[in-house]
Amino acid sequence: MAEELCQCSDCQRFYKEHDRLIREFPTFKQQQELNWASIQSFRTLCNKTTNELQRMLSERESSENIIREKNHIPVEDITEALDELESVNAYLYSIEALMERIFETKISKNIESKFKEIANELAPDPLNIDRIILNRLFHQTPDFPDKTNIN
Ligand SMILES: [Zn+2]
Repeated sequence: MAEELCQCSDCQRFYKEHDRLIREFPTFKQQQELNWASIQSFRTLCNKTTNELQRMLSERESSENIIREKNHIPVEDITEALDELESVNAYLYSIEALMERIFETKISKNIESKFKEIANELAPDPLNIDRIILNRLFHQTPDFPDKTNIN
């Protein structure tokens, strides 16, 4: 399959990041820890922002004094974001449950060596087909001007 590798800035950013994560976290255990930390940090940030937006919204509802915050956000924007974040938080919660199961898996030293060996082969390869397949979510094509409408 002679697929041409997209060179747009989103894809290039993805290739670079994908390879860096393999190079810097080349074992099964390191990938477990990396992804667990990644999910947790995403959840923490989304939860805290959701709480803050809810606080702002109830403050607006309880007072007539509308423009008090430094960066004023319209109420419609806040309620819209809260709807979106509610779904995201539910998805992240599900992912965390799945990650917990993955986290319980233990890999022997011999197999970890294999992981490292394969990581070395994968990371410098600019035409890694797995990476191209994974990248479909990062890719900003004109066919999808608004990715939020997919679900
Ligand atoms: Zn692209």
